[in-house]
Amino acid sequence: MTQAIQSIVIVGGGTAGWMAAAALSHFLRKRQVAIHLIESPDIGTIGVGEATLPGIRDFNLALGIDEIDFIKETQATFKLGIEFVGWKNQQSDFFHPFSNYGQSMYGADFYQVWQHLRKQNKVEELSHYCLSTMLATQGRFAQPRENPQTPLAEYNYAFHFDASLYANYLRKYAVKNGVIRHEKTVTQVTQTDTGFIAGVTFNDATSLTGDLFIDCSGIRGLLIEETLQTGFEDWSHWLPVNSAAAVQSKSAAPPTPYTKSIAMESGWRWRIPLQHRVGNGYVYCDDFISDIDAKQHLLDSLDGQALSEPRTIKFKTGRRNQFWHKNCIAVGLSSGFLEPLESTSISLIQTAISKLIMFFPDKSFNQTDIDEANRQASLEMEHIRDFILLHYKLSERTDTEFWRHIQSIKMPASLEHKINVFKRRGYIVEHEGESFKSASWISMYNGFDVMPNESQIKLDHLDMPQLEQQLKQMATLIQKGATAAPLHQEFISRHCSAPEK
Ligand SMILES: Cc1cc2nc3c(=O)[nH]c(=O)nc-3n(C[C@H](O)[C@H](O)[C@H](O)COP(=O)(O)OP(=O)(O)OC[C@H]3O[C@@H](n4cnc5c(N)ncnc54)[C@H](O)[C@@H]3O)c2cc1C
Repeated sequence: MTQAIQSIVIVGGGTAGWMAAAALSHFLRKRQVAIHLIESPDIGTIGVGEATLPGIRDFNLALGIDEIDFIKETQATFKLGIEFVGWKNQQSDFFHPFSNYGQSMYGADFYQVWQHLRKQNKVEELSHYCLSTMLATQGRFAQPRENPQTPLAEYNYAFHFDASLYANYLRKYAVKNGVIRHEKTVTQVTQTDTGFIAGVTFNDATSLTGDLFIDCSGIRGLLIEETLQTGFEDWSHWLPVNSAAAVQSKSAAPPTPYTKSIAMESGWRWRIPLQHRVGNGYVYCDDFISDIDAKQHLLDSLDGQALSEPRTIKFKTGRRNQFWHKNCIAVGLSSGFLEPLESTSISLIQTAISKLIMFFPDKSFNQTDIDEANRQASLEMEHIRDFILLHYKLSERTDTEFWRHIQSIKMPASLEHKINVFKRRGYIVEHEGESFKSASWISMYNGFDVMPNESQIKLDHLDMPQLEQQLKQMATLIQKGATAAPLHQEFISRHCSAPEK
């Protein structure tokens, strides 16, 4: 009997389910595998999740999806990074770009040179050495290849898109590739004697069996938790926000090429501009503000008319103890959730799919492969958790009960160590499987005015007056490049405007 997987059952048709279906139908096209996807007509999707990380471009590219077509179909706009407003204190404002700062200088790290000269007031703010930050500041956008051929133009970008349109887009793609869609509700999950999942039964009493099951059923984790009971590691003592009020609003201005994250009295608020509307949400901890007040504060903050009543979404931060157990893999919200401060969930869907493809099983479900996939997934989540917590722990806000509570949270040792190492001499500790690389950590430290105490000795040997000149030229070049780029809206109108529906 063949050991090869012959049938895959994906439970859930949200962003996770359709991303998994699209990717598997593409990568398994040369194998005889039946791929089924079940989505319930009665249980909705989470309906948020519209800001992404640059990896989404790689995902689309790997599937042969045309970027312009995808943008038009999903009402997408471009995202160069995130603007953080009011995080350090109520007046503060900084930008976290998807790119590096400056260029390495005679073997010395750019940031080291910059901060050395900064202490002597000889250079501009760090943001002036990052083209994508300068583009964002001016509301402009150009694709990197359209900018001058200089290493300074090596920046990346992501998208804001309509999550339901993206799921529809991938559904069409996957169904065209042969994925079989079932619009039914799973009422029962059956298991074999060894605890593997054997099949699912639907509300119409029909059933479906499979070799491999992918749990994309959302926060509840119908297979991974409700059936296999793999357990959940709760991280809410570190990241206490547990609720969101979300509402869409009319666009009151041209879309910004970035997400906005605005600190609020009991959490923070997102603003995600699409071509046809804006997505807004207030992420908060309900120990400090009621759901009704959070909705009202959200409505009060909108810059365009609300398109409906805000919805309340409840969640718990943490991760499943195992994202892959026996013949079931959790992808998306079923595998755990980190609050959306850095838009990491869709990226985690992508990396979960990559792990599944990398360690694609046969019917023997090799435990070594499963252990390695779980090890990588755990590390990845922990590193993201630390990066998100960094935003809170560097804040100096003590103006509300929520922010005073944040001050009292004890950090995980892993994060405390990283911050301490940076404070000594500006060294960024980078572990295996980190989603956020050193430039992201630098943008945070700098945004919160955390500077290293000592310079690295490498700098002793450099000609600082010459480097000062070079930095001046670099800032001028970047400023020129940014000003020459079209406004974000102009770029969209010219290349990828969504058709009027
Ligand atoms: C407040 C908030 C803001 C977010 N913002 C971002 C962001 O900006 N960027 C980002 O990357 N991510 C964000 N996320 C996360 C993002 O929304 C999700 O990761 C993404 O939408 C994937 O969700 P999902 O497909 O796992 O689950 P869901 O969207 O919940 O889909 C679950 C699916 O399972 C099906 N289902 C459930 N039970 C059954 C059953 N018994 N039978 C049949 N079908 C069933 C449902 O019908 C549905 O199709 C955010 C999340 C929250 C909570």
